[in-house]
Amino acid sequence: MATPPPDRRPIVISGPSGVGKGTLYNLLFQRYPDTFVLSVSHTTRAPRDGEQDGVHYHFVPMKDFEDLIAGDGFVEHATFGGNRYGTSKMTIAEQAKKGKVVLLDIEMEGVKQIKNSNIEARYIFISPPSLEVLESRLRGRGTENEQSIQKRLAQATNELNYSQVPHVHDKIIVNADLEKAYKELEKYIYQPLSG
Ligand code: ADP
Ligand code: 5GP
Repeated sequence: MATPPPDRRPIVISGPSGVGKGTLYNLLFQRYPDTFVLSVSHTTRAPRDGEQDGVHYHFVPMKDFEDLIAGDGFVEHATFGGNRYGTSKMTIAEQAKKGKVVLLDIEMEGVKQIKNSNIEARYIFISPPSLEVLESRLRGRGTENEQSIQKRLAQATNELNYSQVPHVHDKIIVNADLEKAYKELEKYIYQPLSG
C-alpha cells in the first residue's frame, strides 16, 4: 500500500560510490512499494550484469547524450569516473505525473546543479564509516575493474569534503550497520512537516 511521506518533495541521495545508496533506497522501495519512484538517469557507461535499460539507467551512446545536452534536455548532468550521467527534464516530468515521490541518486556536481535549479528538494548524504570500509564495499560488489575503483575512490574524497560544507545537505547518514542506517533514512523521510 502507498504510504506517502508528509514531505513530498523530491529526495536527492548522494554519497561516494559503493557507500550503499542503492542498497538503502531499494529497501525503501521494497518497504513502500508504489510510494517512491527512482529518477532513471541517462548514462554513457556500460550496463553491469543484471542492469536493465530503462529500469536502472537509460543506457545511451555518447552521441545521444551530447544531443540531449545540445537540446537542453537535462536538468543536470556530470562526468563521473570517465562516464557521463544526467537527469533528463522529460524523466522528471514523467515521474512527477505518477504522483509518487521522486528519488534522485546523483553525484556532487549534479547536486550543485539541482540546488541552482528551480527544483525544491531534500538532500540526503550517505557517508561510509571509513574510507577503508568504502573500498572494501566497492571491491566486494565486484562490478568495477581496478581503474574504475581508483577513480571512484579518488572522487569519494571530493564527495566527503563537499558533505562537510555547511547547509548543503539536510541529513547525513553514516551507513555502518545497514539496518540502523535504513531506519535513520526512513525516519528522516517520514518525519512530520516542520513549521
Ligand atoms: P552505491 O549505490 O552507493 O554505489 P551499493 O548500494 O551498490 O552502493 O553498495 C555497495 C556494496 O556495499 C554492495 O555490495 C552492498 O551490498 C554493500 N553494502 C551496502 N551497505 C552495507 C552495509 N551497511 N554493510 C555492509 N555492506 C553494505
Ligand atoms: P554508478 O556508475 O555507480 O551507477 O554511478 C556513479 C555515480 O554517478 C554515483 O555517484 C551516482 O550517484 C552518480 N549518478 C547516477 N546518475 C546520475 C545523474 O543522472 N546525474 C549525476 N550528476 N550523477 C549521477
